[in-house]
Amino acid sequence: MPKDILEIARETGLRTFLHGVNAQDSRAILQKFVNALPSEDERFGQMQDLAKSLGHICQDQVVVMQAAYIEWKHGAGAEAAMRWIRNTLTGPGNVPDPAEPFAREAQAYFDANRAAPLPTCECGRPSNIGWMGQGFCCEAHYQEAKQRSTAQPTAPA
Ligand SMILES: [Zn+2]
Repeated sequence: MPKDILEIARETGLRTFLHGVNAQDSRAILQKFVNALPSEDERFGQMQDLAKSLGHICQDQVVVMQAAYIEWKHGAGAEAAMRWIRNTLTGPGNVPDPAEPFAREAQAYFDANRAAPLPTCECGRPSNIGWMGQGFCCEAHYQEAKQRSTAQPTAPA
């Protein structure tokens, strides 16, 4: 037997917000609210649509880079290839602002703005090398950290 909707409202604290409303009217109001919520199937459909849209966006980003590569290798060359990239960035306003941090350093800009950046290097720059839960901006800082970790004996437990 399904739980009484008013009992659920009491358990969740919602009933107190229906102050001065009798049990029968409260049940009717709560049932109207529940009926207005999207069903499990509707929510699942919305999630599927969202996943499909995100997949299309990712696919188009990859295809643009592939088209640029083809233009560079087999078409009109590197300058023409960059038009594929520039046109893709310009439409939605994604050309990096030259005043943005690292807007003149490709690797650092990527490292700082990627979806899941590595931890920032101890020097404060964005990282592209990960090791032992730390991030490093360059091979030199990575090697320094590795040498420090092997030079220092671990503290006794
Ligand atoms: Zn560094």
